[in-house]
Amino acid sequence: LGRRYSVEETLALRKKFVGKSMYYFYEDDPLKIVRGRAQYLYDKDDNRYLDCINNVSHVGHCHPHVIEASHKQMSQLNTNARFLHDNLVTYAERLAKTMPGDLSICFFTCTGTEANDLAVRLARCYTNHNDVIVLEDAYHGNGSSTVELSSYSFNKPGYGGKPEHVHVAKKPECYRGIYRGNPNSNELGIRYAELVQEEIQMAHKKGQKIAAFLAETMPSCAGQFIPPPGYLRNVYKYVREAGGICIADEVQTGFGRMGKYFWSFEHQGNLSLRVIPDIVTLGKPIGNGHPLSVVVTTPAIAAKFEKFTYFNTFAANPVSCAIGHAVLDVIENENLQKNAETVGYYLLQRAKELLDEFKIIGDVRGLGLFLGIELVKDRKSREPAVEEAASVVDFMKEKHVLIAKDGPDRNIIKLKPPLCFTKANVDTFIATFKQALNNLKL
Ligand code: PMP
Repeated sequence: LGRRYSVEETLALRKKFVGKSMYYFYEDDPLKIVRGRAQYLYDKDDNRYLDCINNVSHVGHCHPHVIEASHKQMSQLNTNARFLHDNLVTYAERLAKTMPGDLSICFFTCTGTEANDLAVRLARCYTNHNDVIVLEDAYHGNGSSTVELSSYSFNKPGYGGKPEHVHVAKKPECYRGIYRGNPNSNELGIRYAELVQEEIQMAHKKGQKIAAFLAETMPSCAGQFIPPPGYLRNVYKYVREAGGICIADEVQTGFGRMGKYFWSFEHQGNLSLRVIPDIVTLGKPIGNGHPLSVVVTTPAIAAKFEKFTYFNTFAANPVSCAIGHAVLDVIENENLQKNAETVGYYLLQRAKELLDEFKIIGDVRGLGLFLGIELVKDRKSREPAVEEAASVVDFMKEKHVLIAKDGPDRNIIKLKPPLCFTKANVDTFIATFKQALNNLKL
């Protein structure tokens, strides 16, 4: 199918028949990819691109085990979750086993947006409160309810701004945030958490009550950063004291990407600072490209929701669950979590080495295969190097290395490759990135 039209023809059809809001990468010279394998994508002329950005193709593009599981189940049965099926129950059991504490009840959905929407419904139902605290510049989905929870979106022109029931806490980001300093500082963890407490107090003054704190443990769209240690521990305490519950959005960061632990909420500096959320939302990597997402919560929270029925036509069908199982198989069989830890560590070190050579790099941060490189015009003023970041992304695409830029100013180079990424891939990325940065000086 992909080979039927020229790039120009495909683009012309897209412009004619597809809503412009559905934007595409590399607007001036879009890429037409026709096949993928592992950490590589191929265009119509079979040029190979190193994919550093697809966190959905978590175990690698078109992984044979995932394809086989999908094909096998697809040719046997695919129907909705109102029939009993072993794939559904065994998958729910397997996911629950990856979670700590009481997190053991799964609700199935199809996208991250739906998972977050349902998570907030569960929170409101359980607490009888309405309001939600989110982080500055966070993204949680594309639906009406989740756009309202995403300051990444609702602050843009035309979106209508922050709704009354949403409270935005300053992001706990130690490079550009309101408190700057060592990202490993416990003190910054405490100070940033106090800002959430202030949001709670301000809501209470207006007679509003907090149903939930919804946040990614390691914020991605907000700027690929790791909050300081103890931040979540303190935030969760304040939110629970206010009668709210804590939702961890693991849509981007779950399933071993962070290396040492399977879920990013488990990384909190040291064990004494670990947190257990009341609800966790999963998406993107969970199905390696197949639309599947899950809300995991506690029996108590799920029980309160029993007064409602929940039906989602495509969610948890036997094919989706077979794929979910297959993705977990590959993560285990190919040791991908460990790979994320070792290759991710190498990536972070090699990226940090560039700080000496290139003044345009203001900050390098990351964990596992989740890396942010912030470009600045000047290290003192930290003015975002916006055009430079765009130019680096385009230059690297010409060299067949795909990276993305993100953060509110789009000056943060972001990497979140499939977990089969290798040290040789890191070397390719670093060498090409250096070329791109040198090219800026010309
Ligand atoms: N949460 C986070 C953190 C995300 O990054 C995204 C997607 N970028 C979503 C939720 C929404 O997921 P989806 O696009 O599958 O609806």
